[in-house]
Amino acid sequence: MKKEMTKVRKFLAVITALVLLLFTTACGNGTPTDSSTSIISTSESSSQSSRPEGSTTVAEASRSTTSSRTRTTASTTSATTTAPRLDKVWYTEGDVRITKSEADAIVAQNYVKPKNVIVMIGDGMGPNDIALAENYSEDRFDFGLALNRFINTGYAKTHSADNDVTDSAASGTALATGVKTNNTVVGMSTDAKPLKNIAEIAREQGKKIGIVTNDTMTGATPSAFLVHCMSRHNTEVLANSFIDFAPEVLIGQQYSSFVKKLTDQSCGKIQNTYMLATTIPMMSIALNGDLTEEKPLLGFFSADLLGDTSNTLAQCTEIALNRLDNEQGFFLMVESAGTDKAGDTNNIAAKMNSVVTLDRAVAVVLKYMKSHPDTLLIVTSDHDNGAVQMPANGEKPTDELFTTDTHTAQDVRVFALGYGAECFRDKTVDNTDIGKFAISAVKGELK
Ligand SMILES: [Zn+2]
Repeated sequence: MKKEMTKVRKFLAVITALVLLLFTTACGNGTPTDSSTSIISTSESSSQSSRPEGSTTVAEASRSTTSSRTRTTASTTSATTTAPRLDKVWYTEGDVRITKSEADAIVAQNYVKPKNVIVMIGDGMGPNDIALAENYSEDRFDFGLALNRFINTGYAKTHSADNDVTDSAASGTALATGVKTNNTVVGMSTDAKPLKNIAEIAREQGKKIGIVTNDTMTGATPSAFLVHCMSRHNTEVLANSFIDFAPEVLIGQQYSSFVKKLTDQSCGKIQNTYMLATTIPMMSIALNGDLTEEKPLLGFFSADLLGDTSNTLAQCTEIALNRLDNEQGFFLMVESAGTDKAGDTNNIAAKMNSVVTLDRAVAVVLKYMKSHPDTLLIVTSDHDNGAVQMPANGEKPTDELFTTDTHTAQDVRVFALGYGAECFRDKTVDNTDIGKFAISAVKGELK
């Protein structure tokens, strides 16, 4: 069996090398080649339907592990070991292994001052979206949402500096820097000065940085956590800034469009200093490889935001946690973008699925926090989208429940777990307060 797994890994390492080669070609031309696209789509579809044997075995092997998880880190694991590093995956397709009592125990345990800070964002996720997912989603845990087991929950105001109704850029900036700015602006003040963001502050503290989204990587939300730009639409600046910053983990969608935006210099940097993976199984394999031990991970995957009921975001979150776990701690941002797209398109099933998508990733983090009480988690949204109404008693939700197809000024939910998280309980804070609190935690300044 081990021999077969090694074979699979070798095979996928070859594929990784091939994609890297094609990536180089794509960068040289400024556009990806047809063949690179076809290899990516083949690999991506295989990740959805017939998972490579090696990675299935990885998941199977650890399914029984529910309590005393021991993590391995880049610094402590032998590069030549045959044991997979990502051997603690507890979920399978459609089934995140966390029980109500387990979630409650994790929420109730004692937490110490955090060295790890995690911010998770349901883009465009209004309060009623969460209530609907809790009550009506057919694709959920045995007890409803993990989020609803949290004790320290409240609300946040989301308005931007120049509008009652924020966009993702201004709200993301508020969450990442603790400062209000105008709509469409990422990481810059209202007077056009760069605002120091939580990722930059975490790096100053010697921490690793992770950004995980199921949106395009240059979406406004992930960009607000790393980039300084007066327009969210200047995606060339956003893409190249990501590569320049080189977070230890950077995972998102749409590889081919991302590559097109890069300068030759950025392409060279990827080639020389990153490990590139264009599917989730390849991310796992890349992390287990012996050539790429300390390189930042640039990972891409494919998921349908309006129909996704898979565990892609949860898987990517798990990969990020494995990669980021270290003595100095880390900052991780995870975004589920489907809640926003579902609002744009008035798709109630996609709304509920996207809340569950985020919740599965939350469950992954809860499992991590069970053995890492020095972690702080804040889950929130940047704004509502769609102003969904609750259905009448006993009626099933329909697309008619949407009252708009755009963002609204509604307050959003805040869920917090970890040291000091009680400051959010039953309160309505400003979204900048969330950013300020998370930054204080990263700086080790929580009282
Ligand atoms: Zn948004």
